Amino acid sequence: MTVVVLLGAPGAGKGTQAEILRKRLNIPHVATGDLFRAAVGEGSAIGLEARRYMEHGQLVPDEITIRMVLERLSRPDAAGGAILDGFPRTAAQARALDEALAGQGARVEHALLIDVPTEDLVARLSGRWICRASGHVYHAIANPPAVPGVCDLDGSELHQRDDDRAETIRARMEGQLGALADVVEHYRAQGLLRSVDGCYSISVVAEALLVQLGQAAEREA
Ligand code: AMP
Repeated sequence: MTVVVLLGAPGAGKGTQAEILRKRLNIPHVATGDLFRAAVGEGSAIGLEARRYMEHGQLVPDEITIRMVLERLSRPDAAGGAILDGFPRTAAQARALDEALAGQGARVEHALLIDVPTEDLVARLSGRWICRASGHVYHAIANPPAVPGVCDLDGSELHQRDDDRAETIRARMEGQLGALADVVEHYRAQGLLRSVDGCYSISVVAEALLVQLGQAAEREA
């Protein structure tokens, strides 16, 4: 079971990189933000609860988040592992994940931090555009679609996430960076943390992440 935790501030590129790693490693990409957005879209009990926090850029309480992600990891397609994107985001979530995996004789194998300075993150998020059909991610300047407002991959309309508005972005940063530091420390203390400079192009960052995964695999062999 290969459990990879992808860490980084909102806008660091976790989702984009997780998609690349998913194809290379052939294990599912589990993004708690996507799971919450799907639950909100369905109007489920978790969605109704989560929405109250997401609208304000706050973290959804640990208990709800942990329950949702462990349920996702128990599905058959995650039997060989998963790339976790946006989870854990607090030390309590990190401990809960360790305990759940230990119960299955498994553990987090790699914790990869995509490091981007805070001042670059606000610019990245405010230029982010997402396709309605599948959540493919674009950026007005760094990664624009061929036709403005239209997804290159499936032709669906591009839109901005409600929580990518400037005032919510600032709240997300303030509310979430402290907790991210705790999670980084959790994995550093376990000797699992590897850091990659996230300021380069998508493909360069992807190669750097794969190098880290490969080197870690060689050390274990
Ligand atoms: P993201 O797409 O990862 O930026 O997540 C969008 C929003 O979902 C966040 O701003 C939080 O409100 C919520 N969320 C996602 N993952 C978590 C998590 N691990 N813990 C708590 N809240 C989360």
